[in-house]
Amino acid sequence: MKNDGITIAVLTVGDELINGEMADTNTAAIARALGARGYFLRESLTVGDAETDIAEALRNLSERRDVVIVTGGLGPTTDDLTARAAALAFGRPLVRNEEALALIRDHFRSRGRQMSAGDEKQALLPGEATILSNPVGTAPGFLLNHGGRDLFFLPGVPLEMAAMLEASVLPLLLSRGGGVAGGERVLKIFGISEPKVEEILTPSLPEGVRLAFGVDFPLVHAKLRASGEGAGTLLDKAELEAKKVLGDAVVACGKETLAENVVRLFIAAGRTLSLAESCTGGLIAKLLTDVPGSSVFFERGAVTYANSAKRDWLGVSDSILQEKGAVSEECALAMAGGMRDAAGTDLALAVTGIAGPGGGTEEKPVGTVYLALAAPEGTVARRFQFSGTRERVRLIAAHAGLDWLRRHLATGGNQKGQD
Ligand code: ATP
Ligand code: MG
Repeated sequence: MKNDGITIAVLTVGDELINGEMADTNTAAIARALGARGYFLRESLTVGDAETDIAEALRNLSERRDVVIVTGGLGPTTDDLTARAAALAFGRPLVRNEEALALIRDHFRSRGRQMSAGDEKQALLPGEATILSNPVGTAPGFLLNHGGRDLFFLPGVPLEMAAMLEASVLPLLLSRGGGVAGGERVLKIFGISEPKVEEILTPSLPEGVRLAFGVDFPLVHAKLRASGEGAGTLLDKAELEAKKVLGDAVVACGKETLAENVVRLFIAAGRTLSLAESCTGGLIAKLLTDVPGSSVFFERGAVTYANSAKRDWLGVSDSILQEKGAVSEECALAMAGGMRDAAGTDLALAVTGIAGPGGGTEEKPVGTVYLALAAPEGTVARRFQFSGTRERVRLIAAHAGLDWLRRHLATGGNQKGQD
């Protein structure tokens, strides 16, 4: 069975998903996991906790698609109807599945908990179901084969669903696909828009490699995908070419984040850092300290929001604050220099800007941000003009700061930031 030939649908079940109480994240998680292995979701459907609706959806989807992945409604409560609906849909009896019951009993015994009647109900499954064990929860999942179609039933809880998808569904799909299903390489790009990335990348892609995009503002995720025999080699080649044409706009690859990359570079360079943040309110420090190991190089960060803070903590002069303003090249330079002196770090990065929605002027509209980097080689400031909401301006400013650090370290201190 070739991947391209397998059609896959997802069915999510739950009143909370159709009444707006809860967003369906399972479909997206499944689509991503499939996409990473070269499989693509053809359709998804959501129904409420009504037995006949679930049964009808199961029948319809299994007529149209080779594989149906169902999530939700396997639990012990009365609104968990998926197993009954599946029995109804395919004219099978609902029987006590001894293997499922043993798994549920084990689960309770190993945690020293008492089972209730509802918990036993989770072992009532359609006849001829293959049990899929649940490594993280109580309700086992199951697989039905009906008319040559595979229907996987997984719990609704996202963590349990994801664990079973990895442990049971994907290996089974892959084994039927005859080995390597293909794969995906992700390049994370900063400073180039999605259409521009497409324009640059498309001519470089080897035949058989598809390009898709993911959103992770302000980064563009370019996903290179291939399937079938030789997909790995093809993707290696595509990734190499893509990095060549995109140059240092690629800030991270695969699962790595920009912040992780910066942390890695700092540790490798043996340099230390301090931060003076105004409009980003500590966001750069947050992104860096999210990464374990950042204490090796990150000495301190100050959120110097008011003029008095810039003056008292960083030594920015009253004349700069009054004559040039807090959002100015001079102020950014003084902030970075002041922080570097105070902290005694190799590098100090400062950021000051107008995140909006108010506070803009003709000369310095909302989105005007100055970054400055103080280093042993000297102190440099750069003006950026970003646009969008307050949240977006802050995010992009923080990423511009991280990216400047990345470039500075990657080029041994000769790079003055991004144009
Ligand atoms: P349980 O044993 O917890 O009852 P279950 O298989 O019966 O598991 P549901 O009752 O349908 O699953 O859902 C359990 C919880 O999982 C829901 O309260 C909801 O928070 C979450 N959930 C279910 N379906 C989805 C979905 N498609 N996307 C995101 N969250 C979901
Ligand atoms: Mg439930």
